[in-house]
Amino acid sequence: MIVTRFAPSPTGYLHVGGLRTALYNYLYAKKNEGKFILRIEDTDQTRYQEGAVENLMNSLKSVGIEYDFGPGKEDENAPYFQSKRNNIYKKEVDKLIQDGNAYRCFCTPERLKELHEKQVANKEDPKYDGKCRNLSQEESDERAKSENFTVRLKVPETGGITFKDKVRGKVKIDYSEVSDQILIKTDGFPTYHLANVVDDHYMKISHVIRGEEWLSSLPKHLLLYRYLGWKAPKFAHLPLLLNSDRSKLSKRQGDVAVEDYLNKGYLPSALLNFLALLGWNPGGKKEIFSLEELVNEFSLERINKSGSVFDVKKLDWMNGQYIRKMSDESYFVEAKKWIDESKLKKDKIHIALKSLKPRLVKMTDIQEKLKTFTQTEFEINDEEAKKIIGTDSTKIVLKSYSEKVSDLDELTANDFYSIMKKVQNDTGIKGKDLWMPIRIALTGEMHGPELDCIVEYFGKEENISRVGKFF
Ligand code: GLU
Repeated sequence: MIVTRFAPSPTGYLHVGGLRTALYNYLYAKKNEGKFILRIEDTDQTRYQEGAVENLMNSLKSVGIEYDFGPGKEDENAPYFQSKRNNIYKKEVDKLIQDGNAYRCFCTPERLKELHEKQVANKEDPKYDGKCRNLSQEESDERAKSENFTVRLKVPETGGITFKDKVRGKVKIDYSEVSDQILIKTDGFPTYHLANVVDDHYMKISHVIRGEEWLSSLPKHLLLYRYLGWKAPKFAHLPLLLNSDRSKLSKRQGDVAVEDYLNKGYLPSALLNFLALLGWNPGGKKEIFSLEELVNEFSLERINKSGSVFDVKKLDWMNGQYIRKMSDESYFVEAKKWIDESKLKKDKIHIALKSLKPRLVKMTDIQEKLKTFTQTEFEINDEEAKKIIGTDSTKIVLKSYSEKVSDLDELTANDFYSIMKKVQNDTGIKGKDLWMPIRIALTGEMHGPELDCIVEYFGKEENISRVGKFF
């Protein structure tokens, strides 16, 4: 059975990189009819943030990534909060100490700081020097009664470890590069490294799919599996997400929280599709994939090794594609979340909304674009528009248009085209000189929503009064 997990630390919000990790884990599990678990890695009490877990769960929910087991969906592996699993880690660490694979370390923070500074000054890789590695059992037990201690992993002094990563291929790391990792902190809580391995084992995780930043920790994790006599899962380390200057994606260069993107009017489906293609591609030119299609196509083999640039322009394009792809009905429902309906004519809201659909990039742009419909007074600011509206040819078009509209009982988008044909025939004016005067007279602008929708939205009387001001 394939079992994957997303194991975020609740530090405040869901990072877009985190969502990509969650998505890949979800896709891989679903593709293989497996299970996808959400586990909250909250053992670092100093980083605890009120409301962070709820935030995380809400973000996953709002993009439609559902987990099979996790907070609120418990099974025999529960609880899914690491802070509530301390007795499980304690048992395993006792075993590690007993077997001589871990040891208590009584070094003070001051000593460790000094050691670190010395190593950095000597241009050495900072690493614990093993001072407490060979304390006798008696001394260790005795000092444990009165001194603070951590528990460290005993990393072999020579040799190294070779492993296969599903993305990176064969990786070899020498133990000389690996420090005796702290497994239990002075506050009695485990570090990520211990808790992560113990949980992955007990939760029967078959595939660990996570960010590349954890690759260098893998030797420690594999040692833990070996020391505890467990079979390690398979690993896939995902390439970094990058800013456009190819530095690691950071808050300083733009938004990184999923909720920020959703609040900006990106559709969850578009954001997921965009993230899916950041670091993975199914081959071929197709770029728009529903979640179901992603599940069918996904494979670990097609994940890239190199980092992927988080290109907001591409996200904009994709969001536009998703808006266009929506049925009008779903689009209206979505659009209404972003507007103040009270400002629009009640019976014509859909006409106004529909006019924006062909060119809309983000849902947040709607309210601003609806100004075309809601403003009753406007000034013409564009120089070219000012010129056009003052010409004789414009006056002729507007007058003819006004007369023809007056003859109708009602003015719909369909009537508009036949009227314009008649105006063209009667005045001999065509092309831009025919259409632009109508747009400018009705809206004050050279560009904007679909003209037939604008015409229908305003209706007969308002068309006449608006164009009437200019001839
Ligand atoms: N808690 C780790 C994180 O937030 C999880 C890493 C892993 O998936 O092993 O990145």
